[in-house]
Amino acid sequence: MEIQQLLSKYMLEISKVDDENKLYNALVGILKRILDFQVLNVLKENEVIYTDPLEVTIDKEHYNVYIDWIQERLQPTFLPFEDVYIGMIPIFKSNKLLSLVVILTTNEPTAETIDYLQLIAYLSGITLENLRLFRIVDDSRQYYETILNVSNDGIMVLDKEEIEFKNLRADSILNEHPLLIKKIVENVINGVEFFEFEESNVFFSISSKRIELFGDERTLVSIRNITTEKEIQKLREVDKIKTNFIANISHELRTPLAAIKAYVETMMGMPMSQEEIQEFLGIIFNQSLKLEQLLNDLLDFSQLESGRLVIKKKLVDICKVVENAKNTVQKLAENHNVRLITDCSQTDIICDSQRIEQVIVNLLSNAIKFCHRSKEDRYAKVSVVKEDEQVKIIVEDNGIGIPEDKIEKIFDKFYRIDNDLTYEIPGTGLGLSIVKEIVDHHGGIIKVHSKVGIGSTFEVILPSK
Ligand code: ADP
Repeated sequence: MEIQQLLSKYMLEISKVDDENKLYNALVGILKRILDFQVLNVLKENEVIYTDPLEVTIDKEHYNVYIDWIQERLQPTFLPFEDVYIGMIPIFKSNKLLSLVVILTTNEPTAETIDYLQLIAYLSGITLENLRLFRIVDDSRQYYETILNVSNDGIMVLDKEEIEFKNLRADSILNEHPLLIKKIVENVINGVEFFEFEESNVFFSISSKRIELFGDERTLVSIRNITTEKEIQKLREVDKIKTNFIANISHELRTPLAAIKAYVETMMGMPMSQEEIQEFLGIIFNQSLKLEQLLNDLLDFSQLESGRLVIKKKLVDICKVVENAKNTVQKLAENHNVRLITDCSQTDIICDSQRIEQVIVNLLSNAIKFCHRSKEDRYAKVSVVKEDEQVKIIVEDNGIGIPEDKIEKIFDKFYRIDNDLTYEIPGTGLGLSIVKEIVDHHGGIIKVHSKVGIGSTFEVILPSK
């Protein structure tokens, strides 16, 4: 093979090597073709790092004294030694000796061969230096990757919609929550820089930032598991709710009790006519009904909490249930000057009539309690609509309404909207959570539409069988 061919084959071969040993294997290959040698050693920082044949070394004493000189000269040099030649081929880059190839040969090479050796040494030097630089880049990449991998947060880089990099944490989060990556890409495209994601009670906060990387735009995304923070927040809310509940319940108990006590004291303290006694007993009776109602609410609530709510279903005409509920809240409606309207024609349904009556009573009581004081005509209306396999019970009022951002919360236990309009209205915040639980137990759903200042509509949809 022509020397030029050998050289281009060598260049091709060394362009593919990925470690030093492979480079020296290729070097041995080409040297064997252009030079007849018996032994080849490679020295790096005075240590023999490669031999051909395996484990055969040239005695260092034969060339040790020339090493410094070769290092300055940086040219392949062959020196006679007894009946052989010791050749030294420095592999260098930018005047820096990277390694030294020492060979033992019986033939002195021609000047032309030395020139080729110089070229081979130069090419080998470039490859060695590239390998060194590549190692540095790879080491620093591994260094930063190790740091990123110990992070508790998921970190990733997106090139448009493609994941270009993700650390171990991001990898495990995305494996466990495959929906998350879709959400991230969607939000990144829409320019949303921060959002929260929840799946099976695990919460994440995701933030993204556009960055420039090698002149191209990328998105850096960080994913943090915030489940513990959320739980602490929830516990704080529960704690606040409990404190509010105790305050509410004490107030609710104290008001009727104080009234009962005051009226009884008055009756005991002064002579009264039969008429006055009747009037006072009436008030005491009403207050004790209030107490009873409150205790019933609490009892229902504790039954719901402990999962002991028993539903006893039978066939009833829902209009009768509506009528009973209307009678129960009649007095309350009169006190608040609220008109009670019912719109119902006989509709049979299989349900627990007592519990459904309780649902309507709770909804009606709210419609009355939260009436609009500055409206002259106030009403609370119950209508029943039969639809195929289901029955809709609609309770509507023209009261104060519910702010949009609170609608989701009103079914939470103990939740009460706290503002100027609701400040003095009694309640425990349990009514709607009881309603929701009963409706759920019937396999039904409850919907709310409301506008502040206009009124509210609660729609209970129950299966008719
Ligand atoms: P309570 O009536 O004892 O406060 P509920 O669970 O029945 O508790 O209701 C929760 C909250 O929802 C109420 O405190 C009130 O702020 C709001 N709410 C319920 N029904 C209505 C309504 N018809 N109009 C306005 N606000 C209402």
